[in-house]
Amino acid sequence: MFATLSDRLTSTFKNLRTKGRLSEADIDATVREIRRALLDADVAVPVVREFTGTVRERALSAEVSGALNPAQQVVKIVNEELVSILGGESRPLTFAKTAPTVIMLAGLQGAGKTTLAGKLALSLKEQGHTPLLVAADLQRPNAVTQLKVVGERAGAPVYAPHPGVAGEDEVPTGDPVAVARAGVETARSRQHDVVIIDTAGRLGVDAELMQQAADIRDATSPDEILFVIDAMIGQDAVATAQAFADGVAFTGVVLSKLDGDARGGAALSVARVTGRPILFASTGEKLTDFEPFHPDRMASRILD
Ligand code: GDP
Repeated sequence: MFATLSDRLTSTFKNLRTKGRLSEADIDATVREIRRALLDADVAVPVVREFTGTVRERALSAEVSGALNPAQQVVKIVNEELVSILGGESRPLTFAKTAPTVIMLAGLQGAGKTTLAGKLALSLKEQGHTPLLVAADLQRPNAVTQLKVVGERAGAPVYAPHPGVAGEDEVPTGDPVAVARAGVETARSRQHDVVIIDTAGRLGVDAELMQQAADIRDATSPDEILFVIDAMIGQDAVATAQAFADGVAFTGVVLSKLDGDARGGAALSVARVTGRPILFASTGEKLTDFEPFHPDRMASRILD
């Protein structure tokens, strides 16, 4: 991820290194190259505009400091602004004061929600929590089975509809809102301290899906609503993120498929456009390919 962007920015800065002092024309030329590199990486146009505007302004007014040459100064400014558009500080998961903590996952189909449910469960288990996964994606025939597979791999139980099975484990079928509500109740009665609710995604944003997600939210009062977005989604990232921000008011973002070699514009756009922090990065199909997101480390990786 970001290999091309990284190369482009590095060569832009290399051209600056020979300059003793930067004229306004030098700064404008540099900012133009940065703008092109970001647009080619699929970063959303308004984010690019704001980013380059701020970098230009700061570069023009930067004091010539003894410690840094002009090129280093520009790199420092770009680094700081990258950290800023990526959300600034990293932010950990919010836990409920009274268990169970409810985490709801939302996003388009194929974004990586079910995989994330397993990754989160594994990582929470390693921290001593006792997560319960709840299969409220009843749209896709395979979704419940898939959640059971990741649950088993993570060593976390899955609360899922059992059509036709009577008894203690009988769960409402067909209605994802009822399943989600019953899942949280089950977590409470069986003393799981975290509940992770997997919800349905469609290929595109649609009103019915959004309403279902909002109904699940209203029925379960989540402590976190994590919007999972495929970092390879390109220029659609902003519209999709905005639709989910409006539809379910998510509290945080998870970037998935950051291991891809795509341009990664989504990563650089969603935090800024929605004003919600990126909490985690998913970097592969294995349950351990998962890490807390640190804006400063990501910026350093881009400028490496
Ligand atoms: P959902 O429809 O949102 O639940 O998405 P899934 O969790 O089913 O993921 C869709 C596909 O993407 C699956 O084949 C996953 O193995 C794959 N996937 C999920 N997360 C990642 C990731 O971080 N990197 C890569 N390379 N693949 C991923």
